[in-house]
Amino acid sequence: MRLSQILFSQGFGTRRLCSGLIYNEQVKVGGELVDDPEAEFETTGLEFEVGGKSWPFYEKALVLLNKPAGYECSQRPKHHPSVMSLLPGPLRERNVQPIGRLDEDTTGLLLLTDDGALIHKLTSPKHHVPKIYEARCKHPVTAAMIEQLLAGVELREPDPKPHHKPELARAEGAEAYETEAGAYGIRLTLIEGKYHQVKRMIAAVGNRVEGLHRPQFGALKLPAELQPGEWRWVASPALVSA
Ligand code: URA
Repeated sequence: MRLSQILFSQGFGTRRLCSGLIYNEQVKVGGELVDDPEAEFETTGLEFEVGGKSWPFYEKALVLLNKPAGYECSQRPKHHPSVMSLLPGPLRERNVQPIGRLDEDTTGLLLLTDDGALIHKLTSPKHHVPKIYEARCKHPVTAAMIEQLLAGVELREPDPKPHHKPELARAEGAEAYETEAGAYGIRLTLIEGKYHQVKRMIAAVGNRVEGLHRPQFGALKLPAELQPGEWRWVASPALVSA
């Protein structure tokens, strides 16, 4: 593929801007400056540098973000900045979108991609991709609460309409864990992603979520060294479903 096309496909701006970066000696391939936008490169496994920063070539982008509290997953956030603002320009330019949303106050592992089919696959309950959540609760967690979450609960509606059919939700896994305060933690495994699902499930068993964190999505765990607000590439979608 031509170098200008490579940069364009990876989100470095219009074709003109990409050619400009190359003419202006901002682009290296294999450690060598390349100043010809027409130069051809094999894209498989390609790494290039733009303005001194290294980029891998991916036909489709897949990244993992350690989402901090105080960011919305929406493209058009209402009250807080969008998680997109934590990503570099080329990824925003490629229009990556969150794979399922986390609430503004939820922290932890958020995947983003520009691959629509992958978004569908990883969020559809049919594909059984487990997501693990750790909820810090207001009241002590009882064995009865855990049993109810595993058996299935009716999700509360804040403002139910007449003849409203209640939504049911069941956890694939649920266990109590100790928080710093004591027996206040619930670790839940879900394969669906209904609106505010964890908070509504825990409300349905008579408790209340005070803090929510997602340490795992499919087989991917949040890397311990990745600080809140930091992101990294995921080399292949196979790593999520492995
Ligand atoms: N369930 C919730 O209630 N909130 C989230 O952010 C994710 C799952």
